[in-house]
Amino acid sequence: MRSFILLLFIVLFNSVLTAQITQDNSYRFFVDMNIVEDDKLTVELITPKFSEQEVAYKFPAMVPGTYKVYDFGQYVSDFSAKDASGNDLPVTKTDVNTWTISDAGSLYKITYKVDDTFDDTVASIKVFEPVGTNIKEGIQFVFNNQGFFGYFDGYLRNEYLLTFNKPDGFYGSTSLNALKRDEKEDVFVSKDYQFLVDNPIMYSLPDTTSINFDEAKIMISVYSESKGISSKDISESLKELMIATRKFLGGKLPAEYYTFIYNFSTDGNSGNYGALEHNLSSFFHFPDIPAQAKSYMINSLMSTSSHEYYHTVTPLNLHSEEIGVFDFNNPVMSKHLWLYEGTTEYFADYIRYREGLMDQKSYLNSIQEKINGSMNYNDSLPFTVMSKGALDQYEDQYLNVYMKGALIGMCLDIIIREESGGTMEYQDLINRLSAKYGKDKPFKDDDLFNDIESMSFPKVREFLDTYVDGPNRIPYDEIFGKIGLVLKKDTYDVIDLGGTVQIGFNQDNYRLKINDLNNTDNKFLTELGIMKGDELISFNGNPITFFNAKDVFGSAEKQAKIGDKLELVVARYDNSGPEKQVKLNAVVSDVKQKYDYELSLSENPTEEQKKLLKLWSGK
Ligand SMILES: [Zn+2]
Repeated sequence: MRSFILLLFIVLFNSVLTAQITQDNSYRFFVDMNIVEDDKLTVELITPKFSEQEVAYKFPAMVPGTYKVYDFGQYVSDFSAKDASGNDLPVTKTDVNTWTISDAGSLYKITYKVDDTFDDTVASIKVFEPVGTNIKEGIQFVFNNQGFFGYFDGYLRNEYLLTFNKPDGFYGSTSLNALKRDEKEDVFVSKDYQFLVDNPIMYSLPDTTSINFDEAKIMISVYSESKGISSKDISESLKELMIATRKFLGGKLPAEYYTFIYNFSTDGNSGNYGALEHNLSSFFHFPDIPAQAKSYMINSLMSTSSHEYYHTVTPLNLHSEEIGVFDFNNPVMSKHLWLYEGTTEYFADYIRYREGLMDQKSYLNSIQEKINGSMNYNDSLPFTVMSKGALDQYEDQYLNVYMKGALIGMCLDIIIREESGGTMEYQDLINRLSAKYGKDKPFKDDDLFNDIESMSFPKVREFLDTYVDGPNRIPYDEIFGKIGLVLKKDTYDVIDLGGTVQIGFNQDNYRLKINDLNNTDNKFLTELGIMKGDELISFNGNPITFFNAKDVFGSAEKQAKIGDKLELVVARYDNSGPEKQVKLNAVVSDVKQKYDYELSLSENPTEEQKKLLKLWSGK
């Protein structure tokens, strides 16, 4: 009898394999990771059934959380559409992200190839790796799904079924539901396109650790190229962070299950590191590090992990219509990045400080860095205006959301505590807003300040109107002074470089290098003859390290003076030959004033300051 069942099983199994898959309303995708050609994967889709004459298959221009247009269609090639008998249907590429298919009533299958973004050399805008894709044959595959799978215009709400054939031993880390996971093949399901984009998948040999709470299951998944860091290494600190966050948010974590996907790798070309948030996971991209740098890395990972996890509060569960009803191909910005990114950035470290995972000195230092960092941006550009124009006109101001945006959060926390006499804090306001709105209930951009005013105090409204919606600079000394913080401004001279010199880091030899120069006609830089790609060796005879690099062009400790001589030794590479060390010289002819802010606690605080500080710090 036993063999009979087996025989029957084989017959059934064969019939499934040979039968043609019937079309219904679902998207059925197939990807075989064992077949990589030219660094590309082939994607097959059995399409939903259409009654229209013509349908448009699209890839997103942008996805939620990145606030940047990447045009994922540009990585797609060899696109073809067929009917059920295998005959080609006419396809026209209508724009960078769109393929229009005629005779759509008989459309059965489309096929195309996808190149990854991590080592792309063509696109003018490099895709930030946490939103990108990686194809590393036999080693690792990163599916940020918008890079591989598209949607038919008007069919965003259909179900998606993804079937992956995978190399031996591979595990797909994701918060997507698996209908099947076996040695060779996985099948994941997503209720619609937005959910698919919201759930990245990383395939590699598994390195996972779980942390469980009564209401929440958390998985940590790590890919480390050199195996310098493992999921176990991260789990202890992450558990502490989750306990702190849970306590701060009222004793319950907002997501029932959540996957932290960490990628430590030398792949990628954006030159940036960081992460992207989702409702049930976040994807982190950091440099691959040797084991000695582990503890430094884990510390910086916790700040980023805290930030990404707080996003489950905002924007994921508190956002405007522009974010909630996301238009993948004609994205429109909301005015309130100060809330989505700024407030998140504030709480990321504040929760760690408040709950004892970060000491006061390090915390105040991080606030001081944000004040100084924010001064590199236009401080009198209203934040709501910047936010609305973050995709185009004010793209270069976007990163200020992590500086001034966080400081706005801190100001609101202090004002709310003062106005309420300690009975309310900023998180209470967020909770009230989240109770009124929610994941599927966006607010109107123009209503938000009215809601905030009715849920808090007139002084809060006044602050928002004056300093967030208006062009006025925030008086940090006055607002931070309420909790006894003293802000000192240091003025000093630096060499006038006419713009910015972006300094990066060569992972292979640990040297600092010139990543970019946006000011090639600057007199001093021209005389010096420094070039993009140069690695910094020494200045005026002193070896350049992380600690003194800021002194090269002038700092508070080493001010620049007109007439100073700078001798800079750099390593330069020509046509991938061996490096050449080059001595560069220039005389300083122009200096400009810079400011540094220093934040400290008052030595003689008033009783009121002491009281408010205690309320805010919890200590
Ligand atoms: Zn963020």
